[in-house]
Amino acid sequence: MSEADRAEGDGASLELAILGSGAAFSGIGHNAGYLVDGELLLDCGAPVTSLMGQLGRSLADLKSVVISHLHADHFFHLPLLVAARTVRYQGADPLRIVGPPGTAQQLDTLGRMAFGDHFWAEVMEQGTPAVEEWRGGRSGPLGAFQMQAFEVEHSSQLECLGFRLERHGIALGYSGDTTLCPGIRELAAAVNYLLCECTSMSAPAPIHLWRAEVEELIQAYPATRFILTHLSERAPVKGAILASDGLLLRLRPIAPD
Ligand SMILES: [Zn+2]
Repeated sequence: MSEADRAEGDGASLELAILGSGAAFSGIGHNAGYLVDGELLLDCGAPVTSLMGQLGRSLADLKSVVISHLHADHFFHLPLLVAARTVRYQGADPLRIVGPPGTAQQLDTLGRMAFGDHFWAEVMEQGTPAVEEWRGGRSGPLGAFQMQAFEVEHSSQLECLGFRLERHGIALGYSGDTTLCPGIRELAAAVNYLLCECTSMSAPAPIHLWRAEVEELIQAYPATRFILTHLSERAPVKGAILASDGLLLRLRPIAPD
């Protein structure tokens, strides 16, 4: 995969930092968290406040957070992130948070439970984060990125989203958690790179993708480069990169065959 390498580079490219590559209960990596160009965070299940610092990235530079769904391994560190950024970087531009319906209320519930009503109210007042709730099919600018949300099928009790981000003419997709549904196929067809969940390597995984389904996607969309994450075990998958915690990838434009 020459277009996605681990070297530093310049020119038209996206930097993808893997903060957490582990599935919810796997124990082989932090939970979900992916930083794009140091300013847009995809999911917040990992302890992002410390992991960003370990990679030399600052919470002050973070402009937006995009949440795929409200399960703990994708969402539960968001109150800590919002509070840490507010406390440490007073005067920073308000954080823009995009998530599925229910995000604002759930963030408020978690924040109050985590820090108490008084402190959480101060955080929200001083940090003034803007929470937007998107559904599949919506698109629009998010900072320097053009973003589109895709409805994917994961939990029967939650609206779950995948996303397409485009900048510098490079389109990066993120599956969130999903089954092999129409939404993930549509997303895979619409991007140059797909950060795709692969929860199991050895057997079907209920409400998730497993290796055979991911291999089917890789074969069906040969123009798309796959980066596999949300892992429970590590095994090579032909045609894909395996994510690992702390991995930095520079995604470059893909020349047509
Ligand atoms: Zn998950």
